Amino acid sequence: MMLSATNVVKAKLINRWLVFDTIRRESGIARAGIATSTGLSKQAISDLVDELIALGLIKESKSAERRVGKPPTPLCINPEGAYALGFHVDVGQMSAIVANLAGDVLCRRDQSLNDLEPERAVTELFAAAKALIREVKIPRDRFLGIGLATPGPFGVAGLSPPRLPGWDGLRLRTLLHEASGFPVSLSNDGQCATIAEWRFGDAARGLTHFVYVYFGIGMGSGVMINSAIFGGASGNAGELGHLTVVPGGHECICGKRGCLETYVSVDAAIRHLSAEGIEVASPAAFAATFDDSHPLISSWIGAGVEPFRNALNALENLFDPQTIMIGGNAPDWLIEVFMAKAEPLLPSVGRIERTLPRIIRSDLGVDAVVRGAAVLPLLTTLNPQYRELNPHA
Ligand SMILES: [Zn+2]
Repeated sequence: MMLSATNVVKAKLINRWLVFDTIRRESGIARAGIATSTGLSKQAISDLVDELIALGLIKESKSAERRVGKPPTPLCINPEGAYALGFHVDVGQMSAIVANLAGDVLCRRDQSLNDLEPERAVTELFAAAKALIREVKIPRDRFLGIGLATPGPFGVAGLSPPRLPGWDGLRLRTLLHEASGFPVSLSNDGQCATIAEWRFGDAARGLTHFVYVYFGIGMGSGVMINSAIFGGASGNAGELGHLTVVPGGHECICGKRGCLETYVSVDAAIRHLSAEGIEVASPAAFAATFDDSHPLISSWIGAGVEPFRNALNALENLFDPQTIMIGGNAPDWLIEVFMAKAEPLLPSVGRIERTLPRIIRSDLGVDAVVRGAAVLPLLTTLNPQYRELNPHA
């Protein structure tokens, strides 16, 4: 690569993110520790730390007593340095939070969405945003922006996410920006959950390469490569639900047949029950009423296990992850039954010695999506790699 002024500026921004993220992961680390951890020179660290302190994003905390010499000064994130709004919009419902720079949730609002037309839903979203900002009493200019999580896929003509006819997350993003004046970063639910697990979860602590399978109303995934979420050319990377697993199988909304999410998803379970004459009003009603002791559910799970196992194998062979994490807003029992029945997993090629199980359960539960959404403005603002890998940053 040619070294140009632009590249130098970009390299500096990447290094600044690296320093910020090292301090986030290892709270209390001193400048020398960051130099060891990142390989950057002490002078570069010193400049970048000064810059992050001037921006209010990190702060020096009190150092431990030392009898001889000047003690190293521990550094930590300044939780009050910036704030973000996070939204998770799904079928008929919405969650919204205000989070600080450390990711602490300061207040939240959960409500049903009466209208899923983006033009009308946006008025409810904007009203919620205003109410939350009033509640936390933080000036608007301290907010980096809004992070918006919706089901994907984005911008695919004629293709709506399951049970959201005519839905378009891109349109909602534009409208929310126009209504609020805030920058709005958009990502799908699976990618947001992946970000939250990477940043806040215990199960993903220390992981740099993993795939998160989002088992929800549909089926998605998030791909974390070297600690960066990969959005793809149109933000639709990881649409695992549309992997063909049964050639000529069930019809899918994407126009194909035999896609994974027509076999393994909450929507697939509800459709299966409907085909057997049992109507279920909503995913929540499904979760409240059914479990794997129901004979129709038990036989439906039996048919989905092999497609699920094949999909996990495809992910291992495509991305060589340290592990595959499985979570989502499907009922816990459903995720856990599929994880148990997927064993033994199929062989996968070329693996170095593993230190982790090949599949692990996610840590954060249903809150992961909205918490991940609230991280998007930070990534958009501070991390140039995130902007390169995610077109709706
Ligand atoms: Zn499909």
